[in-house]
Amino acid sequence: MNEYQVIVVGGGAAGMMAAGQAAKGGAKVLLVEKKERLGRKIAITGKGRCNITNEENVADFISHYPGNGRFLHGILRGFDNVALREFFARYGVETKVERGGRVFPVSDDAEKIVEALVTFLTESRVEVRTGFSVEEILVKDGHVRGVRGNGQQSFLAPVVIICTGGLSYPATGSSGDGFRFARKLGHKVIDPRPALVPLKTAESWVKELQGLALKNVEGSLWIAGKKQITEFGEMLFTHFGVSGPIILTMSRRAGDALRAGEKVELRINFKPALSQEQLDSRVQRDFQKYSNKQFKNALDDLLPQSLIPVMIRLSGINPEGVVHQISREQRKYLVRLLQELPITIIGTLTIETAIVTAGGVDVKEINPKTMASKCLQGLYWAGEVVDVDGITGGYNLQAAFAMGYRAGFATHEVASPWSD
Ligand SMILES: Cc1cc2nc3c(=O)[nH]c(=O)nc-3n(C[C@H](O)[C@H](O)[C@H](O)COP(=O)(O)OP(=O)(O)OC[C@H]3O[C@@H](n4cnc5c(N)ncnc54)[C@H](O)[C@@H]3O)c2cc1C
Repeated sequence: MNEYQVIVVGGGAAGMMAAGQAAKGGAKVLLVEKKERLGRKIAITGKGRCNITNEENVADFISHYPGNGRFLHGILRGFDNVALREFFARYGVETKVERGGRVFPVSDDAEKIVEALVTFLTESRVEVRTGFSVEEILVKDGHVRGVRGNGQQSFLAPVVIICTGGLSYPATGSSGDGFRFARKLGHKVIDPRPALVPLKTAESWVKELQGLALKNVEGSLWIAGKKQITEFGEMLFTHFGVSGPIILTMSRRAGDALRAGEKVELRINFKPALSQEQLDSRVQRDFQKYSNKQFKNALDDLLPQSLIPVMIRLSGINPEGVVHQISREQRKYLVRLLQELPITIIGTLTIETAIVTAGGVDVKEINPKTMASKCLQGLYWAGEVVDVDGITGGYNLQAAFAMGYRAGFATHEVASPWSD
């Protein structure tokens, strides 16, 4: 009764894809999920719209995974963005492309993605047990034997695929169980840490800007006095620091540098389309226009209202002073601030609040052709539990789906000796 050919642990993106794919090969598959519903995390991705993948050429994907992109090379080619969109189209979810190549369901509804995956599972005859938390992976004579749940109930199978996710957003079910299993089964786990996470800042004036969202700005990350990364796009000031797409993208590098004890600084360019000379001319034009006004009333054309008092204070120029009295040096300093506003980064928010977890099961111990463990026979890994992470733009879900697909597909061969 409790015997299967393949057991998949975790009903997220990777697990649902792996289970359906394994079952398509004819195996008797059980998918166990800790939560009462499948795909809890998928439902909240992309602010409820689910950015499933990116439109760009799959050959260019690798560079968007700061965590082990090269490991994904063949995996992404085996199930790429085109295949993923076709997969969802087959289950009635048409997709569209937005800014930056981001692919979303036309319905803008992440639930449709979950529903499509559930239909896939039903159609492939996967048995699903929700509300079942795996406590232990059973092993006998150096081979996986099945799983034991919280209520002591066990299910047996010669193949177990672990797709338990990372440590981010634990309310969706991903609370690091896979890392615990990995260590116990002899795998090396690369230190799990937050990636795609907001950053905490030192300066007290940042708080005053809470809620200010900026578009078309450029952020540069400086580590130990050297510029490391530059990102262009949107950012947001919060009560603790900075967030938004460009910040999240730089956060992994910032966090690693802070952990290594290095000094981390963010520099914001509010006018990246202009060279320093062009911006200086622009400021001079504004200063001419407002030459008889007080400085505090001369920046309205240049900056959002909430930013003006802060920039005035940081410039050191008297806000009550008349504009035509501002010296050349003062103006030049203001221009520099507008293009290189420095903010000290002192930390990241916690891993629980991160969009993804960096670190996880060491890719050196996983065969990328099959996702099989090199440590234990019959064991497979897929999804965020593996030490792979990408930037925003659909790369993380694409990786989870592609790893799940590969693991599920690979079990076709190994599961067959156990078929009736
Ligand atoms: C707010 C947010 C927005 C995001 N938006 C995007 C986006 O738009 N595009 C994108 O590409 N990526 C996005 N991501 C990242 C992406 O969602 C994840 O990388 C991806 O879902 C990982 O899939 P997974 O299947 O590996 O893990 P998960 O989706 O975390 O699934 C793991 C599953 O395993 C279950 N589980 C865990 N332990 C056990 C156990 N012991 N027994 C049984 N079941 C267990 C969990 O309950 C869970 O359902 C977002 C993440 C967050 C948090």
